Amino acid sequence: MSKVIAELVIRGSQDIFKQASDFLDKAIKEKGPAQKIGFPETAFYLPAANALLGAKVETLKDVLPILEHAKSLLPDIPSEKVWLPYLGDALNAGMSTLFCEEIIVALRYLYGQEPQKDCNGFFTDNILRSLGIQLVDGRMSGFAAILGAAPDNKTAVEIIRQLQERNILIFVGSQSEGRSIIDQLLEENIQMGWDNYIVPYGRDTISAVYALNWAIRAALTFGGVKPGEAQKCLMYMKERVLAFALALGKVDEIKCATAAAAINMGFPVIADTDIPEIKASGITTYEALVKELNYKNIVPRCIEVRGIKVKVSSVPIPVAYAAAFEGERVRREQLYVEFGGKASAAFEYLTTLESNAVEDGKFELIGPDIDQLEKGKRSMPLAIIAEVAGRKMQKDFEPILERQIHRFVNYAMGIMHVGQRDMNWIRISNDTFNKGFRLKHLGVILHAMLHQEYSAIVDKVQVKLYTRQEDVDKMVATAQKAYGERDERLSGMNDESVDTFYSCLLCQSFAPNHVCIVTPERLGLCGAYSWLDAKASYEITPTGPNQPIIKGGITDDRLGQWKNINEFIYNKSNKTVEKVSMYSLMDAPQSSCGCFECIAAVIPEANGVMIVHRDHSGMTPSGMTFTTLAGSVGGGVQTPGFLGIGKLYIVSRKFISAEGGLKRVVWMPKELKDILADKLKKRAEELGESGLIDKIADETIATTAEELVSFLAKVNHPALTMEPLI
Ligand code: SF4
Ligand code: ZN
Repeated sequence: MSKVIAELVIRGSQDIFKQASDFLDKAIKEKGPAQKIGFPETAFYLPAANALLGAKVETLKDVLPILEHAKSLLPDIPSEKVWLPYLGDALNAGMSTLFCEEIIVALRYLYGQEPQKDCNGFFTDNILRSLGIQLVDGRMSGFAAILGAAPDNKTAVEIIRQLQERNILIFVGSQSEGRSIIDQLLEENIQMGWDNYIVPYGRDTISAVYALNWAIRAALTFGGVKPGEAQKCLMYMKERVLAFALALGKVDEIKCATAAAAINMGFPVIADTDIPEIKASGITTYEALVKELNYKNIVPRCIEVRGIKVKVSSVPIPVAYAAAFEGERVRREQLYVEFGGKASAAFEYLTTLESNAVEDGKFELIGPDIDQLEKGKRSMPLAIIAEVAGRKMQKDFEPILERQIHRFVNYAMGIMHVGQRDMNWIRISNDTFNKGFRLKHLGVILHAMLHQEYSAIVDKVQVKLYTRQEDVDKMVATAQKAYGERDERLSGMNDESVDTFYSCLLCQSFAPNHVCIVTPERLGLCGAYSWLDAKASYEITPTGPNQPIIKGGITDDRLGQWKNINEFIYNKSNKTVEKVSMYSLMDAPQSSCGCFECIAAVIPEANGVMIVHRDHSGMTPSGMTFTTLAGSVGGGVQTPGFLGIGKLYIVSRKFISAEGGLKRVVWMPKELKDILADKLKKRAEELGESGLIDKIADETIATTAEELVSFLAKVNHPALTMEPLI
């Protein structure tokens, strides 16, 4: 390592240490040592200090030992004589910087200085959980943290677009000579936010620590790494969190120190300036610090240095196409034309035909195209009918393929797709229309993507679009009949009627010991994999993450345990989980990876169970918020009394049936009740408890166990007279 860099790193880390130390002194003087400190919505206190030192910082006083530790890591500036080209000193300085920067931003929160204008600030635990599935299924291939500014706005946009096209989540911020990439993107009207894979953290380098202390939580959330297991945590990040930093513009001391923190975590740094490089060091997988002066090559160079595997979909349409554009909105001001929603009649339907009735790649538009839109109009009716054929195609797979239309259409830049079936809503932006996008490109997208992702079951695809009202009205009846038949068939399917369950091991890339077992009556805890999805996925990739398991003999009817399932789990959990009850919360419940939609938890005082979903940020009667509860469930570990679940499992006949099922539920957020309203009502009626839903408290009724118990007594909730849970 060059002495110049080492010196910059060490000077920077000393500077940051001083800033942290002065700021803490000031805070203690002004607010007292007992003053509480922390970030919003996290179960991990100051996450870097928690993960690496096992510290639970709650007050200003608790910060002191962290700062002491940071100080002990600070090396001296290397002298001319004793300079040795090792990384050690700079790495220690980087570690010190990580702790100090975290302290500084936490203190800024205390003083109301964060988040900065137009910026996200601290990234919550929840965001990490909700991105879980995208991370494991390849829709998000890695993370970039950009520090500084590009030489001009055009280059900034170019770099961002290239990263988006590779499905890389981009954190943007810091500055270079007074200019931040955040402002470059704002000036160019680039949509930012999690849905667009571009998240501004702050306009100074210190706030880049948000990206680092977020990455660290992946190890705690998914990896089963315990606070304080520093080595394990650092290994986890190097191996599983595919992140890198891109420094644009002049690299000053503070940037150098922050870069050293990133390198410590296994994240390489790429710069666009002429800096001395650090080749493979063992700390990162490949080179630790490299330069790339040509902006055309900079993104490919980043990908290569971090060893990210990018899945690019090549779909020949006039606009960019990638998962990163999935969440992008088309606002009214940008709108060229829309279909469905409140604007017009629309639906989408995928069906199977005999092979000779499908001509692969054929596209028909029956009615006017969008360039023939009547003057003054902004909407058109639209029927999308995809007809497929394939030797291995099954009727059961139709809804699964049809559901992908949402994702496939959304990947196109400047197109928004919401909903499904006859409740879909599609918007095309002015920009996209002006670039030459026409309706035939919807056909191109569906044809290309169905082949790309489902070639194992689909041999041929043809697409028909209808844009005349009378056609849409006529065709929708056929589609609606099929929707109804599908629903009926699904509701008739249960755990007893099949001889095979499916595993899901997708989350093992983040939670190495976690196994989901997916049954007809219990979907994966992420909510994204039903039994049919898993079955289709197995047909598509027989060696993939979804494997069939022949149930074999049942060993415990009440708990839902099968010999074959237990054996499978034992082997696939790296021998950490011996048995799993599919129907119990208390006795050998399923493990959780971290990306669960809801958590079910015992409330001992109520002899019942509460359920909270990810979007509910308020307090629950367990005395914990979703975030805090989630902090103690996950990492592929079984936690009796706590269970990560998919929303739809709540209304299943098999929902914790060992403990009495839905009748045990004493509390749910109002929003969750509303989402499941019809299904909950139906399920309650099946149980002969038609008034049950009104007896389940929500946050408007109770947020403490005390309030909850008194409400339950008043409404005579069935849980009160059920067998004791504990
Ligand atoms: Fe992960 Fe389970 Fe969902 Fe599979 S079903 S993606 S293992 S949470
Ligand atoms: Zn998961």
